[in-house]
Amino acid sequence: MKLSPLFEKGKPQFSLEIFPPKDHSGGVETIYETLDGLREVRPAFISCTYGAGGNLADSSTIEICSIIKEKYGILPISHLTCVNSSAEDIDIILARLKAAGISNILALRGDVRPDVPPKQDFAHASDLISYIKEKEPGFDISAACYPEGHPDSDSIVDDVLNLKLKVECGAEHLISQLFFDNEDFYRFRERCAIAGITVPIEAGIMPVTSKQSIMRMVSMCGASIPSKLAKILNRFENNPRALEEACIVYATEQIIDLISNDVDGIHLYTMNKPELAKRIFSVIDTMR
Ligand code: FAD
Repeated sequence: MKLSPLFEKGKPQFSLEIFPPKDHSGGVETIYETLDGLREVRPAFISCTYGAGGNLADSSTIEICSIIKEKYGILPISHLTCVNSSAEDIDIILARLKAAGISNILALRGDVRPDVPPKQDFAHASDLISYIKEKEPGFDISAACYPEGHPDSDSIVDDVLNLKLKVECGAEHLISQLFFDNEDFYRFRERCAIAGITVPIEAGIMPVTSKQSIMRMVSMCGASIPSKLAKILNRFENNPRALEEACIVYATEQIIDLISNDVDGIHLYTMNKPELAKRIFSVIDTMR
């Protein structure tokens, strides 16, 4: 099943992101625990990251997407990065995805690793999208977008124009980078509309669980921390339970406001923590 028709229903869609387990001793098996919990929130689809940090060596993304589809009966999206891959590498992945019956790809550039020279076939996600659309037009392609602009771009205007190129190359759905101030998302949505980008845009929401990890994350992805959230992080940084409670409420309020402002969808970065997702969905379930 493809993803894009879901957004034709005119109601916000609720989706989740997971990543391959980092604990290699438990292998892919530990993902069952995560998915057992996440299935309870009845997501429209679950996406699984690929080679985050540029490490493609042991990515189990396709295996996990197969589990999401076969064992849980949930639509999977497989993330796929290109900057550290050759066209031959991508051909192999596309063949594996096709064999597994996975038809949705989140096509990404990936991060350029300082220690690994990028391969030459794909400089940007738009190159990967064009390549897939030409080679295997049956795939449904999604792409990433950045409400505050991608850190590499010279300006938010350039970034939106590059985003438009991704859509023109064949991206049918967009998932946003995390953000903590909904006004950033609304301004971005307006810019997209002015640029003629009409595909559905899902808002990426991350419930914060520790000050240290979110500061590391925002330093990499360029998202900003509004003063309301900064005060929460400072007040509760040494009280993990209070911090988590406060940040669940923060993320839930963001989502309610987004739904009230006709967002196309919410993509929750679950960090493989089903309890967080369940807490948030227990509040917003009636708003679907
Ligand atoms: P691009 O769209 O190529 O954009 C990168 C930069 O290049 C931007 O500044 C853009 O404005 C510019 N640009 C784009 N096209 C052109 C062009 N044609 N000419 C000139 N400039 C251009 N990383 C992982 O490693 N694995 C994952 O699973 C993963 N999942 C993600 C999921 C989401 C929802 C998001 C938002 C990010 C994810 N990332 C992941 C991170 C992502 O790989 C990085 O943000 C990366 O730096 C950019 O990827 P992109 O696909 O947005 O790149």
